[in-house]
Amino acid sequence: MQQGWRERIEAIFPQMVRWRRDFHQYPELSFQEERTAKIVADWLKQCGLQVRTGVGGNGVVAVLEGGSTGPTIALRADMDALPIYDEKSCAYRSQVPGVMHACGHDAHTATLMGVASLLAEKRKEIAGRVVFIFQHAEEQIPGGAAAMIADGALDGVDAIYGVHLWTPLPRGVVGLREGPLMAAADSFKLEVVGKGGHGGLPHEAVDAVAIASHVVVNLQTIIGRQVDPLKSGVISVGRIEGGRAFNVIAERCELEGTVRSFDPQLRNRLYERIEEVATQTCRMFGADCRLEYGWGYPAVVNDPMETQRLAQVARMVLGDEQVWEVPEIMAAEDFAYYLQKKPGAFCLVGAGNQEKGFSHPHHHPLFDLDEEAMKASAEVLIESALAYLHANRNPLLSKS
Ligand SMILES: [Zn+2]
Ligand SMILES: [Zn+2]
Repeated sequence: MQQGWRERIEAIFPQMVRWRRDFHQYPELSFQEERTAKIVADWLKQCGLQVRTGVGGNGVVAVLEGGSTGPTIALRADMDALPIYDEKSCAYRSQVPGVMHACGHDAHTATLMGVASLLAEKRKEIAGRVVFIFQHAEEQIPGGAAAMIADGALDGVDAIYGVHLWTPLPRGVVGLREGPLMAAADSFKLEVVGKGGHGGLPHEAVDAVAIASHVVVNLQTIIGRQVDPLKSGVISVGRIEGGRAFNVIAERCELEGTVRSFDPQLRNRLYERIEEVATQTCRMFGADCRLEYGWGYPAVVNDPMETQRLAQVARMVLGDEQVWEVPEIMAAEDFAYYLQKKPGAFCLVGAGNQEKGFSHPHHHPLFDLDEEAMKASAEVLIESALAYLHANRNPLLSKS
């Protein structure tokens, strides 16, 4: 049964490219993926799957019942685009001004549509079920994953796999990591409220700009002095704004920043320390501190056993030298929520190609990917799903 998947993928590949380019030309922002979801749902119905639309928003869930009973594996793709102007000049560039598939989710969706139809053709030979999760709104908090889970997307599912095509890796390479792969990404907005006054009379005012500067420096000390050096964390203040005139002491100053971490305990500790350090620094100089903390996606933590299974499959399909253990990535992904509920693994499939010019990072206005990578992604998804079903089959339940 393993033989022939590559040929079948080759056969459907032109269709996958057509889907991907269509999505690329008509990208939809997070929470607005109606056209994309409809195309996906129509295709899945045509493949004979049980399709549920509007799952947790614009999400689509399709179930493939195999020819005999067995466990249930889920495969997930995301469908949304980003608020970025597409600066490419190719034929399939975005037709929607200011909206662009700059993260490759168009190719994720196209790949999983292909995977679904190929597996559906072989449904009789499958022992168990495959659940296809087409998720909306990965790029924007609160994201689509949590809402889809709340709406039953993982009901009856035993394990889950997902792929992110990744241009920093060369095409054909699979990047994996047991345990934390992608970071938790939280944010904060902080307002220092002092007392305005004349620039020449600082003693009569409480200088919000000066105090905010202390806050920025002290926040950096949290990472440098209060976090285990063997654990990774980042606090970056990306925006600071206060005051209106060079000779007037500012009453207010606003800071905004991002906080990244992998360890859940460290994640909570960073929040506590940021609150305390900012509040105490402001208090020390007589100012008030107003903190809004935005909890983002948790870290993507891969199950060791499922990661090994995926790695083994990838080695078999693509060759040993094509499977790399990659370092943790400071970007976030709401695939994290599925992995909080079920064992599974999220992997990267290289989609970069310097010679063809596919070298821009994700979220860049010139981002594009090597579509050939969709083949490797499809093969890894199909073979991993079947490997999971095979390894976890229950001979007592199985009819064949
Ligand atoms: Zn992205
Ligand atoms: Zn993405």
